[in-house]
Amino acid sequence: MTEIDRVAERLRTATRIAVLTGAGISAESGIPTFREAQTGLWSRFRPEDLASPDAFARDPTTVWDWYRWRRELVDRAAPNEGHTAIAELQRRVPGTVLITQNVDGLHQSAGSEAIELHGSIRRARCTACHAKREWSVDESEFPPRCNCGSMLRPDIVWFGEQLSEAQLARAFAAAESCNVFLSIGTSNLVQPAASLPWIAADRHALVVVVNTVMDGQHHAPNVVHLTGKAGQVLPRLLTPLASS
Ligand code: NAD
Ligand code: ZN
Repeated sequence: MTEIDRVAERLRTATRIAVLTGAGISAESGIPTFREAQTGLWSRFRPEDLASPDAFARDPTTVWDWYRWRRELVDRAAPNEGHTAIAELQRRVPGTVLITQNVDGLHQSAGSEAIELHGSIRRARCTACHAKREWSVDESEFPPRCNCGSMLRPDIVWFGEQLSEAQLARAFAAAESCNVFLSIGTSNLVQPAASLPWIAADRHALVVVVNTVMDGQHHAPNVVHLTGKAGQVLPRLLTPLASS
């Protein structure tokens, strides 16, 4: 029995599954990961200098230009086999909670429901009344405006901002109570998401790390590493579910 078969077998009987995803799961959809994103037109800007409340207060137009550019990339992208496999897992095992650090909305496009820890590039919210709405690259003006007349900002958790308490509580509850925790395509550097696999491991869940590179990932007796692309490993992991 290969390592993948062993994990697949454990997944077949799990009733509570937590899945944490990072930029790596969308890499095969053509969306650059955090490190790769520093190319092309915007390479002379650091994300820390654009995705922050200070940057937005200083120059909202430049910040919106950057999000428009990223949004065009996202609009051209489609979910890949990794996203699809997770959506399938959620359908088959209703106790599956998906937690994502991604803002691209590709999990939802694949049919998943996700806790979006860092918000969504598809939504904007009002800087005055906090109302939220979808936005598109074809808005009549940038920065776009709210119905109340005030400026909208991307509905994204920026550097130096707090994550939603309610969403974090749901994510921690899922990590504490799962039988299997899948950590997929994340460098595990950004807190508090990085502590979620540890919480699951402490509670004796099987933790499965799927990544092309295993540097800096968790090591413990109940942590299994599956090296490879999410779009290739995940469908193989979930195939036995289809026949159950
Ligand atoms: P990261 O860029 O720091 O790490 C990506 C990880 O994915 C790396 O460990 C890399 O080895 C791995 N990886 C690359 N290709 C892979 C593949 N095909 N299959 C499996 N693994 C693969 O991303 P992060 O850990 O999510 O943290 C970065 C932050 O940047 C997050 O807060 C996120 O909100 C933001 N971000 C989001 C997106 C997006 O929405 N798609 C893209 C870039 C950055
Ligand atoms: Zn408003």
